[in-house]
Amino acid sequence: MSFDVERIRKDFPILQVGTGPPLAYLDTAASAQKPQPVVDALGDFYTRHYANIHRGVYELSADATARYEAARDKVRAFLGAAEAREIVFVRGTTEAINLVAACYGRTHIGTGDEVLITALEHHANLVPWQQLCIERGAKLRVAPVDDAAHLDIEAFEALLGPRTRLVAATHVSNAVGTRVPVRELIRLAHARGIPVLLDGAQAAPRFPVNVLELEVDFYAFSGHKLYGPSGIGALYGRAELLDAMPPYQTGGGMIERVRFEETTFAAVPERFEAGTPNIAGAVGLGVACDYLSSIGMEAVERHEAALLAHAERLLGEIPELRVIGTAAAKTGVLSFVLDGVHPHDVGTVLDGSGVAVRAGHHCAQPLMERLGVPATVRASLGIYNNFDDLERLADAIRRCLKLFA
Ligand code: PMP
Repeated sequence: MSFDVERIRKDFPILQVGTGPPLAYLDTAASAQKPQPVVDALGDFYTRHYANIHRGVYELSADATARYEAARDKVRAFLGAAEAREIVFVRGTTEAINLVAACYGRTHIGTGDEVLITALEHHANLVPWQQLCIERGAKLRVAPVDDAAHLDIEAFEALLGPRTRLVAATHVSNAVGTRVPVRELIRLAHARGIPVLLDGAQAAPRFPVNVLELEVDFYAFSGHKLYGPSGIGALYGRAELLDAMPPYQTGGGMIERVRFEETTFAAVPERFEAGTPNIAGAVGLGVACDYLSSIGMEAVERHEAALLAHAERLLGEIPELRVIGTAAAKTGVLSFVLDGVHPHDVGTVLDGSGVAVRAGHHCAQPLMERLGVPATVRASLGIYNNFDDLERLADAIRRCLKLFA
């Protein structure tokens, strides 16, 4: 199926509103806008199908349960996992990583052990491991990047030691767009029997991901970055690993049998889904997976690559602009700084032209420090962006430079 961006734009109500020029939304790495089918699915679920799940004896509850579980299977298919029970619904990437740190980390990581991350991590895939290491008397090791923000694979390999218990790495950097060679990371870690968690928050919405082909052990992503609702995301974990993990939170919905003296826990994935979950959010996420699959993730990837190449050409013509993060393999995330203008001022001026970008440290302060900038302006691309958005970005940057000249 050919990719028709103008047809896709029509699916996004937020791009239709207003009388002036449409919003040039270039902040998809922070959160994606929602297509009509996802918006409709939420309304439809609350209007016609809503009830609590799993314990209802009446038809409405059985129907809501079936829809929630169908959504789990859609996420399974989207990630190419073997079994639906390997998909745990969580609030998002942050919760998924905290779950693995709490349940896998606390049982497998002890005094003197090591967790290996990379210098590219979002704080969500850094702070949980740092805190776990402090709690357990373990050591956090960090594989470095070069000036272009490529991961240094040789240094990564050298940091895999006899005490490394887990590798936690991002698949794509949210701050500078580097696409990490995760197959190589996984191969090197698995050769030493070390499991690997990938933070897929920026990868799952941008190109095809298949957890079985990757042979990855844990994979985390957020619904809101995948054109789905916020407050929902998924953790994939290999069944064998999840089965052996203790619960995350405890309470209703995750038990098998409760007595005052002791409790036995439900099988996975319910064991990790205590309390009433985000039922409508899960249904909406399933629809977002369907929506992207109907476009085709290969087509999404090609569209973004074409946009990125065009954006790099346009921004390359502005001598006062310096791109931060120039890795050979990059996705649709473009970080830059302008001579003499603070990134926050750039963001504000661009907003005045209807161009929405993000300015700041992008929850990756150690990476910013390594690359020698306190903050950047970040334009990030999504399936609805077109060349016009990028030309408006370049024009607005020129206006900003004139303003501050
Ligand atoms: N990891 C990466 C790479 C991200 O881009 C983000 C969101 N900016 C997160 C983790 C955290 O995701 P969430 O806030 O949805 O939990």
